Amino acid sequence: MLSILHQYGIIERWSPEKILSSQFGKIGKLLAHASNKVPYYQTVVKECGIADPANVTPEEWARLPFLDRSKIQAAGKDLHSLIIPPGHGRAHAIYTSGTTGRPVRVLRTDLSNLYWSATTLRDHLWHRRNFKGKLAVMRNAAKGKDPYPDGSRSQTWGASSNVFKTGPAVSLNLNCTPAEQVEWLQRENPDYLMTHPTNLYRLASYCLENGIRLEKLRETLTISEMLRPEVRDACRAAWGVGVSDIYSGRDVGYLALQCPDHEHYHVQAEGLYLEVLSQDGTPCAPGETGRVVVTPLDNFAMPLIRYDIGDFAEVGDPCPCGRGLPVLKRIVGRVQDMVVLPGGERRWTLLSAGNIESFLEIAPIRQYQFVQKDLQTIEVRLVMDRGLSEPERDGIRDWVNDKLDHPFSVTVSMVDDIPRTPAGKYQDFISEIDAPPEPLKRAHTES
Ligand SMILES: [Zn+2]
Repeated sequence: MLSILHQYGIIERWSPEKILSSQFGKIGKLLAHASNKVPYYQTVVKECGIADPANVTPEEWARLPFLDRSKIQAAGKDLHSLIIPPGHGRAHAIYTSGTTGRPVRVLRTDLSNLYWSATTLRDHLWHRRNFKGKLAVMRNAAKGKDPYPDGSRSQTWGASSNVFKTGPAVSLNLNCTPAEQVEWLQRENPDYLMTHPTNLYRLASYCLENGIRLEKLRETLTISEMLRPEVRDACRAAWGVGVSDIYSGRDVGYLALQCPDHEHYHVQAEGLYLEVLSQDGTPCAPGETGRVVVTPLDNFAMPLIRYDIGDFAEVGDPCPCGRGLPVLKRIVGRVQDMVVLPGGERRWTLLSAGNIESFLEIAPIRQYQFVQKDLQTIEVRLVMDRGLSEPERDGIRDWVNDKLDHPFSVTVSMVDDIPRTPAGKYQDFISEIDAPPEPLKRAHTES
């Protein structure tokens, strides 16, 4: 891990040109492996007329078709490597739909997990966090996990403690009221707080309205959703602290980390080739927003080459901090609605995190979307190659009511496609009654 961090420290100071050329060295290795050992790419690489995949040029690379979740579903095991090179360790399967409602099963290796841990540590080091501090985490909404009032605790921050002695970490389930979350935070008095941007905004607004400071809090960290600028403003106003955002995906690992000196992001280019492409497929220039297409460079178990993950980003100018890693100015990605119970309580669904697998076992579902129509009704929209049997329909109803922890009336609609919103976003859960966040009240602050 220290060796990887040492290499990261050197590479991040390289010029953008040198970083790109080093990436193409890794891309060549990956593409050579894929065209030899992965049935799907044996065909694709040949069709693109790439004669020598190990020495692929940027021009040839641009001819490779995008991969998306429906192609991953269709390819199935054809995307798996027949042989994983020694040194990459074992392969592990994870399920994810990244809130697109289009679930995929992706293989990652021990090596990918090692790089994941190293990048977690890099984020702490970049932001000069005090490892002796207490880390509070609110990211889980699964029933019965880390429940209020106690939450759960661990002696360390996790993977970072393999290298540094850390303070404790404490976790609380997201599904309790802002008042309960804040009461827990006051009791725990953490140095750092990690949660979803929408939840952070609710907490900061609540503290601002009630004049509550969190005495030891130094910084907040956000994950899994698009970070809106008003969340940063709310944290500064409520607690006098900043936000560090993390852009990652379960299927592709870390994409970008916030620069330690600015509010934009540095692509984690050592392990990932990230392209931001305009409508016609050409690379976006600084100031332009385009689709995010990624190639994880360390996944030799199931190579994902030019994978369109459904997010959009704005390309930034080179960063004055001295790091040559590419800059993303803004990420336009996932947003999440909350389900509203008849009593007015709002709960996180986080449908795509964790136990979505048990939903997919009910029937061969290609894509799904859940829509709360009113306080009593959830509509489940499904894309499938065939209809549902009666037991499958019952299974879906039971799953939804268990997941949302309320006996909703559940309707199922079979649809041909679940399109993006006009803004280009997919959403796996839509509430037609969840109000957008209220504008920040500034009554209690002087700035
Ligand atoms: Zn920077």
